[in-house]
Amino acid sequence: MIITDKKESATVHVLPALLYADNALMPVISANTISFHYGKHHKAYVDNLNKLIIGTEFADLPLEKIIIETAGKSDKAAIFNNAAQTWNHTFYWSSLNPKGGGEPPVALKKKIDDSFGSVDACKKELVTAATTQFGSGWAWLVLDGDKLKVVKTGNAELPLIKGTKALLTIDVWEHAYYLDYQNRRPDYVSAVLDKLINWGFAADNLK
Ligand code: MN
Repeated sequence: MIITDKKESATVHVLPALLYADNALMPVISANTISFHYGKHHKAYVDNLNKLIIGTEFADLPLEKIIIETAGKSDKAAIFNNAAQTWNHTFYWSSLNPKGGGEPPVALKKKIDDSFGSVDACKKELVTAATTQFGSGWAWLVLDGDKLKVVKTGNAELPLIKGTKALLTIDVWEHAYYLDYQNRRPDYVSAVLDKLINWGFAADNLK
């Protein structure tokens, strides 16, 4: 019997399949952007994470646990950044839907009305957060206690490490929109909110 000290790769992180075709988000997000954003950027975060955690105490941990345990530790920044970006991108792809936009499901809409006054006011806050995030980052709809809030985070940071629950996100790193919109980040964000945002996903995360 051969005994190896190398565990089978049961917890190796994998790039999840996209839930739609790479051209399904057109014309808001092109297949070209998806091919780089998903096929190169997201894939690189997953591959880098797997390389970085081999032989470390993080090798067998679930992704969220890696994120929580490396957050704020400067000597673990590379692992945190790649783990968080792996999580953020999977969450972003689910936050988009080729048939998205429109009105949120009833229970979520009521919660949005309670927290922001209206769906339009919520969308406005998301546009503001997304366009005022200086440099790379993310705009989020989160559940904070029993209230919904819009927040922005820089680089790889995410609600999980700030004690709030993410409901949906918009990636505002330049790689998310530059091929299609160049410097017009507000146009990208508005189009995503009007045509692609997956309110159903946010509603599921509220449960
Ligand atoms: Mn991205």
